[in-house]
Amino acid sequence: MGYRGANRLIELKIAGRYRKLPIWATDLSFEVRPGLNFDHRAWKLWKPVLLLLNSIVKKEKLKIDWVRIHSHFNAKRDIPHAMGWWDPESRAMFLCHFDKETMLHEVGHVMSSGFHGDPWAKATIKLYLKYLKGRELDRAINHFVYYLSGRRVYKKLYGERAPTSNVPPNIWLNRKP
Ligand SMILES: [Zn+2]
Ligand SMILES: [Zn+2]
Repeated sequence: MGYRGANRLIELKIAGRYRKLPIWATDLSFEVRPGLNFDHRAWKLWKPVLLLLNSIVKKEKLKIDWVRIHSHFNAKRDIPHAMGWWDPESRAMFLCHFDKETMLHEVGHVMSSGFHGDPWAKATIKLYLKYLKGRELDRAINHFVYYLSGRRVYKKLYGERAPTSNVPPNIWLNRKP
């Protein structure tokens, strides 16, 4: 059972070590660096997120040097690190959760300064409204109002108090490949 076309894996040297990547992931405006012990079956989960990130980078004229992605199939308990983070010094994005919401949250950091303050919240809600719809958008907004800045921006936008945020279980929990 081989990978065909753009999903075919090729070996290349990334940050000093040989890694296997699908062809589509070698053709983005940033370097993709899978984490150690990355399970290749996770590439299909990452594909829509990374392709969207690539188009946002071009559209919004951002500069991201590389993106680290994880896989944690069959996780039995919560993952002991953040769902994603942005390192402005190395211009690197770290993504653990493979949903678009997490990636857009981090793009909000790329486009603002400070941490989870109002500049981040304003940039992030704009991204959510632009790039998500339906249940994905509802879920992202429900997550967003977990932050005080998110609650302030929500109130300004919708003219009412933000609802209670329900943080969902970790995306990798008991996830089958
Ligand atoms: Zn992780
Ligand atoms: Zn954040």
